[in-house]
Amino acid sequence: MITHRRQHLIKLEEKLQTCENCPLGKTRNNLVFGRGSEESDLVFIGEGPGEQEDLQGAPFVGKAGQLLDKIIDAAGFKDDDYYICNIVKCRPPGNRVPAPEEVQACMPFLRHQIASIQPKILVLLGASAAKAIIDPKLAITKARGKWVKMGNFLVMPTFHPAALLRDPQKKIPVWQDFQEIKRVFDEMKDGIYEDIFNDEQ
Ligand code: SF4
Repeated sequence: MITHRRQHLIKLEEKLQTCENCPLGKTRNNLVFGRGSEESDLVFIGEGPGEQEDLQGAPFVGKAGQLLDKIIDAAGFKDDDYYICNIVKCRPPGNRVPAPEEVQACMPFLRHQIASIQPKILVLLGASAAKAIIDPKLAITKARGKWVKMGNFLVMPTFHPAALLRDPQKKIPVWQDFQEIKRVFDEMKDGIYEDIFNDEQ
């Protein structure tokens, strides 16, 4: 059975197949919309598609994606526990960082995706995603591993898996971050999560 969430996402993905709201629409091979469970409480958000993602039309399928899958698996998440997407849905040429105008142009579509899925936890993979969603001035080395409350979401920035391929020393902090994400995910699932931000409201 196709759920309402799935229907919304299918419609949006179809609409974006012809999107040229920013220059990346003219150079992409394939739109890279998202993969995973629309019924999940957890959404991973990366920067944008790389070469393999652009060729295959799916997010995180290259080397960095394979590493991310291993980390997610090792942390104990099941396939239907999460959804994965990016800040921009089309590949920035040469894997450059997406320009602020491109991020701005694509952001309403990410919001629509998130509104359809209604997750509880957002994990921001790398500086681009964290800057776009939390604060343009954010420094990922300082912000990673710390929960931020944004509306109904608990948001955790961490390093992008591509950064781990360049610098294996980052694997330890990322592993710590994923263990913390899994802890909170499980507590929410079991209904025993105590909101650490309650006192601040
Ligand atoms: S990156 Fe986003 S806004 Fe730009 S063309 Fe692709 S779908 Fe449209």
